[in-house]
Amino acid sequence: MNKVNWKFDNTYSKLSKSFRELIKPTPVHKPEIIIFNHQLAKDLNLDFSRLNNEELSNIFSGNDLPKETITLAQAYAGHQFGHFTMLGDGRAVLLGEHLDNKKNRYDIQFKGSGRTSFSREGDGRAALAPMLREYLISEAIHALKIPTTRSLAVVKTGEKVVRENLLDGAILTRVASSHIRVGTFQYIAATQNIENLNTLVDYTIQRHYPQLTSSKFKAYDLLNLVIERQCSLVVDWMRVGFIHGVMNTDNMSISGETIDYGPCAFMDHYDPKTVFSSIDKFGRYAFSNQPPITKWNLARFAECIVPLIDKSEDYAIKLATDLIDNFQNIYEDKWLKMMKNKLGLFGEDYKDKKLIIDLLYWMEKNKADYTNTFCNLMDINSNEIYKNNDFINWKKEWKKRSKLNNSTKEKQGKLMKINNPTVIPRNHKVEEALAEADKGNLDKMKKLLAILKKPYDNQNNIEEYQAPAPLSNEKYQTFCGT
Ligand code: AMP
Ligand code: MG
Repeated sequence: MNKVNWKFDNTYSKLSKSFRELIKPTPVHKPEIIIFNHQLAKDLNLDFSRLNNEELSNIFSGNDLPKETITLAQAYAGHQFGHFTMLGDGRAVLLGEHLDNKKNRYDIQFKGSGRTSFSREGDGRAALAPMLREYLISEAIHALKIPTTRSLAVVKTGEKVVRENLLDGAILTRVASSHIRVGTFQYIAATQNIENLNTLVDYTIQRHYPQLTSSKFKAYDLLNLVIERQCSLVVDWMRVGFIHGVMNTDNMSISGETIDYGPCAFMDHYDPKTVFSSIDKFGRYAFSNQPPITKWNLARFAECIVPLIDKSEDYAIKLATDLIDNFQNIYEDKWLKMMKNKLGLFGEDYKDKKLIIDLLYWMEKNKADYTNTFCNLMDINSNEIYKNNDFINWKKEWKKRSKLNNSTKEKQGKLMKINNPTVIPRNHKVEEALAEADKGNLDKMKKLLAILKKPYDNQNNIEEYQAPAPLSNEKYQTFCGT
């Protein structure tokens, strides 16, 4: 099989038993490849061009494992909606880490690959539509230039999974810079084994923060950098109106990538309280709660590594608390910069924050579409709503402020173009594409993927993909899809 050019190096399998269970994917009955990401394969230096569909199906179902893999399920814990639970890969296995030709290391993971010792009551399987959903949205997030896990393939297993209905089973191949989560630290911390905790910190630094290799204060510096990356990630989500939907600590990657696309969705009209997930009854993961929840999750991460920050527990807690408390400042700075980028504002003016808040307030009050309002400012959306007097007055203020830019209109336009998508995965379009794909027709999904590949371009004839859902769709709900 190595005509494919896999270069596996399985460092995670070399960690002690506390970290993982060595286990193979459970073979499936009749695998059938449904979608394959040729560009990603190429970027990973993999070449599947000589394989036929049957061979691809066998590989990406786990029926035919590349020789160099040492497959395993990772142990982790997590705060799920605030409640701590010991978890682990209950329906996923890691094939190992593949190295591309620049020696970049990527986890290759099958999701939906059968039971493991972490499966609890679950069947270890996944259904087709949610796996296609993860494929679609993760690729869209990548195209939006936001750090994320990627999707290489989806295979139908030829077996049914029992949910509320009988559904087609499927396996997603997920590619990530790693699957180390806040929850991985929580799991190891819960076992109170300092040696393992040290190992995990060193392993994480080696993989994601090599600049800290010779630091004298590894745990402290790691916390600092993880805060920085997570903060940048959530600011990016806020930039494009993305709602992750299930920001449990097991779904928060230490690398700062978006991970685990369950009930996520994009906001249409601006409303900070937007929640789509049917299980998020109290809005814990609502749009505007994402930054404070990121901070909350980071505090859980900090708690895990306190014993490594300083020998004196009190002092370690003080150091960690100071870092966590600074989250708000870092966030506000990054958020302000991001919003100014969206408005094409250079330099600083004391009224900038007010200008931004006035616009958000107007959008909320008038149920204006978040994405399209910024498009209007770039002269590419002229909906009736933008003839509103308050908006016109706001625009005058914005233009006045833009004159302080000390720059050209062109440069302003460029800055706005790289920060404001002209198209996002609209919920009704995603659902429409997935419903067809679930019935076996992938045309709509592929068309949607092609459009979402260039979210910052001004593409022709894509108006139906840019319009928000019809009003009847307002109570849009997403489901965890396990
Ligand atoms: P998720 O909601 O996908 O983030 O999963 C949360 C936890 O539940 C993880 O430990 C998963 O491995 C586990 N899990 C989710 N669905 C299943 C399933 N069908 N069978 C076994 N474990 C599952
Ligand atoms: Mg998860």
